[in-house]
Amino acid sequence: MKILIIEDEQKVSSFLRKGFEEELFTVDTAHDGEEGLFLALTEEYDAIVLDLMLPKKSGLQVLAELRKEKSTPVLILTAKGQLEDKVEGLNAGADDYLTKPFALAECIARVRSLVRRSQMDKPTNTLTAGDLVLDLIQHTVRRRDVTIDLTAKEFKLLEYLLRNKNAVLTRSAIIEHIWDITFDSETNVLDVYMTRLRKKVDEGFDPKLIHTVRGVGYVLREPVE
Ligand code: CA
Repeated sequence: MKILIIEDEQKVSSFLRKGFEEELFTVDTAHDGEEGLFLALTEEYDAIVLDLMLPKKSGLQVLAELRKEKSTPVLILTAKGQLEDKVEGLNAGADDYLTKPFALAECIARVRSLVRRSQMDKPTNTLTAGDLVLDLIQHTVRRRDVTIDLTAKEFKLLEYLLRNKNAVLTRSAIIEHIWDITFDSETNVLDVYMTRLRKKVDEGFDPKLIHTVRGVGYVLREPVE
């Protein structure tokens, strides 16, 4: 995995570089916004760690210009308590943020999860389970010859289940992935959506694909012939 660290504070930058390299990442560093943006646009990175307060070009400017061309996952670093920066950063297209000071392990874990997420989002044409076919290009779902109409959220939910076929997904993992919120809020929402999705995908069809794993979450199983 190759990442770019855009950070003007030498100490923070080399601390990050060392940490990521120990985890076998390939690391490029840039020490101002201009250099950072140039590298981000000309090289291919799996993720970018971006400080907001930078010389020459601010982190937000870098992000805005990067997003016109590329969707490389970006983790922004914000100074403690600057909530507005954080919000602005996320609005400008950052994928996650971390408040300084932070633990190295946390930073690495966040970057890993961003990379994983973006790889999952890369388009392959279709996802299937038994006679269920989800077409990512056409944005359609069919079971046997029947077209199933799903809302955008239901589609995303089914896509997530299909990408993790046969793996039990915890409620919190599903909620975080689909709604980007933490576990303790709106837990009802998942049940409501799951009930609707199962009705559309499984009602009137055999075998059933989506199963509840009591006390844990849900799994979409490839039917055994
Ligand atoms: Ca800085």
